[in-house]
Amino acid sequence: MSLYKIKPLHLGDITRPKANMIYGYKGTEVQDFPLIAYYLEGEHKILVDTGGSHPESPQGKKAAPYKRTPEQELDVALQKIGVDPADIDYVIFTHLHWDHAANNHFFPKAKLLCQKKEYESLSDPNYPNKGYEMENIMKYKYELLDGDVQVVDGISVVLTPGHTPGMQSVVVDTDMGKVICTGDLVTLRESLTYNPPRFNALLYDDSALDDMQESLNKILAISRKVLPGHDPEVFTPGMGLG
Ligand SMILES: [Zn+2]
Repeated sequence: MSLYKIKPLHLGDITRPKANMIYGYKGTEVQDFPLIAYYLEGEHKILVDTGGSHPESPQGKKAAPYKRTPEQELDVALQKIGVDPADIDYVIFTHLHWDHAANNHFFPKAKLLCQKKEYESLSDPNYPNKGYEMENIMKYKYELLDGDVQVVDGISVVLTPGHTPGMQSVVVDTDMGKVICTGDLVTLRESLTYNPPRFNALLYDDSALDDMQESLNKILAISRKVLPGHDPEVFTPGMGLG
């Protein structure tokens, strides 16, 4: 079995009410949430998500408060850990929102993988597709994955709808067992300390509540070692996985 090492890349911070990020959370705190891509090093060089648009771009300004330092540019962050962006083989998108799919131009040779359902939802007139920077993401060609599939030995995806209709989580075989990059199904690891565990508060519509719960149950049945979509704890040694 092929094993991978995971390196989280810090690609800026947005400032948001915590209640927007954890379903059922009642507190009123506002805090910084990092934008994150995960680099997976093993038999192949794989990236999960590509981070957000530049804070000074029209989309970046729309997302304010949002800040990013020069070191938090995706190409710089990869080079800092010794990875040439041109060497990335696969980019797997948890979903195509502006803060997860904005820097695809660094990877001209990589295969860009997203769920068929995610891609198709973008042309559904009934889908309230806020959160997508359409002009940017539509410049690229994606390979469409249909449901739960193995991408390569050691890396698979599971369909986990709720935040978007076609969101997927990435299951990575590591020396500590299966670790799951959840995208925005789970925002903070704190979400799992509640009983029952909580998912992200931003659902694509009200009917997505059941989808969210089902998706959360689905990933927790695979592993409780999760790397959430916007948790600063993943940058601590051991990624907070204990
Ligand atoms: Zn996000």
